[in-house]
Order: sequence, then C-alpha cells, then structure tokens
Amino acid sequence: MDLGLKGKRGLVSGASSGLGLAAAKTLAAEGVQLVINSRSEFRLEQAAAEIEKATGVKPMLAAGDLSKESERRKVIESALDQVEGGVIDILVSNAGGPPPGAFLEHDSKLFEEAAGLVLDSAVGLTHGLLPKMIEQNWGRLIYITSVGVLQPIDALILSNTYRSAVTGFCKTISNTYAQHGITANCVCPGYTATERLNNLAEKTASETGKLVTQVIEDYAALIPARRVGKPEELASLITFLASERAGYITGTSIPVDGGLHKGLL
Ligand code: NAD
Repeated sequence: MDLGLKGKRGLVSGASSGLGLAAAKTLAAEGVQLVINSRSEFRLEQAAAEIEKATGVKPMLAAGDLSKESERRKVIESALDQVEGGVIDILVSNAGGPPPGAFLEHDSKLFEEAAGLVLDSAVGLTHGLLPKMIEQNWGRLIYITSVGVLQPIDALILSNTYRSAVTGFCKTISNTYAQHGITANCVCPGYTATERLNNLAEKTASETGKLVTQVIEDYAALIPARRVGKPEELASLITFLASERAGYITGTSIPVDGGLHKGLL
C-alpha cells in the first residue's frame, strides 16, 4: 500500500528511545524527511545513527527539553529551519512519562512539572507548527497519550490527569481545523516494552520484592493478548495516521494495547 508519505516533513519528539524512536524509524522508512527531538544531543545522535542504519535515511536533530517553553521554541525554530520549505507536515508529539505514584505522593510542584512535560509540550509544539499547516491546507497531528485516558491506571495519577487534558485538547483542535485538511488524533499505548515500562516495573519490584521479570509477566497476565506490546506496533498505527490514506480519521483516541481496555468504545 502506498501511504503517500514520500517527501512529507515530520517532527517526532521524545525520539531517542522507545515509542518515539520506533515511530521515527517507521516514518523514515516510508520516506518522510524527519527531524527528531529529545533532551540530549548525544542520545539523539545515537538514535539518528540507529534510524539511518535501519532505513538509510539520516534524520535531522533538534535537541531540547520540551517541558520548558524557551527550549520548546528553539526546537520548533530549528525543525522549521532544517526542513525543505520551512513547513512540518506531520507532528508526532511525545515526551517522557511523569513519575508514577498515588496522589499524596506528589506535591503541587510535581503536578506542575508533569503539566509541563505532558500537556504544555503538546500544546506548545502545536502552537508552533499548526499555522503553516493551515496555510498549506494539509497537516497531521498525532499525540502519544496512553490507554490510561480510556481507563485510568491507579498508580499513574500524573499521567492520567494530563493525558486526559491532551485528549480534550486534541479533540477540540480536530473539530476546529479539519476544514483545513488537518487531522488530529491520539494514539494510546498499553503496556509496551520500552525503558519507561522497565522503570515502572522496577518501582513495583522494589515495593513488592518481586523480580522485574515477574512484574512484567503480571502486566502480561492482565492483557487478553497475554504479552506486552512492541514499540513497532504503535509506530505502525502512527505511520498510517500520518499518511494521505488516513485523511478522514480525525478526533479519535485509538488504543494499541492487546485488548487491555475492556470498554466497548
Ligand atoms: P521512554 O522513556 O522510552 O522514551 C521517552 C522519550 O522522551 C525519550 O526519548 C526521552 O529522552 C524523551 N524525553 C523525556 N523527557 C523529555 C523532555 N522533557 N523533552 C523532550 N524529550 C523528552 O518512554 P516510552 O515508553 O517510549 O513512552 C513514550 C510516552 O508514552 C511516555 O509519555 C509514556 O508515559 C507514554 N506511555 C508509555 C507506555 C509504555 O508502556 N511504554 C504506555 C502508555 C503510555
């Protein structure tokens, strides 16, 4: 299937590992001219080398901490400066997850930091990139959220809180800008094998005395597919949503979770 992605220009944030890196690889393999972001220039260079080895495409880099407004602006400027024509057609908005824990484990400063990382990063990137998408009457906005927005995960109150806000933001954007050929969708990973999942499993292991492998087996036991997901499985959906073919899909939140979410819709 030709996805019509050759020559499109994309920015994938939080792309030095995990889900962002997998999305960057899949988009690069489809011929997208790619800029990748994460905080560390060094880790980005490693990710770029990995993407180039896998796909033959060398991505451009825009390092910066997306939870900080000043750095976010520089990332946007750098991305727009580097791509041909100065327009990003596809945004995959992603960053690290906020720390796990129950409500009273987090003071207001941690809530503020989580808002910066999860919500402000998504809103800020959209502010920076959307106007030029509107001018050209074409754009794809894809936000990596979590299955926790469909069914909150008890130990992840920071994530549940701000990813739900991203979902409301995305839905509203989708309503307003669909008439300009722009789609906006959320993709909702379930338990997926990345550094983030390992860190969460390590926390549970230290609290329960279980081995990390046992904690991950416990996650798998909750999932109808009886295994955690692979980053490439989310990346495939992202790549389809970014494509010409997905032009009539907008305002959705789509789980990629092996059936973990048990609701009808
Ligand atoms: P990860 O930790 O493997 O990767 C996160 C990426 O974001 C890394 O490249 C990291 O360098 C980058 N990053 C972190 N903070 C940043 C910042 N302030 N500015 C720019 N880049 C930053 O995590 P992952 O598993 O790939 O998860 C990606 C997102 O999806 C996270 O928000 C996570 O909470 C969410 N999520 C993951 C899972 C899962 O099971 N892996 C499930 C649901 C939701």
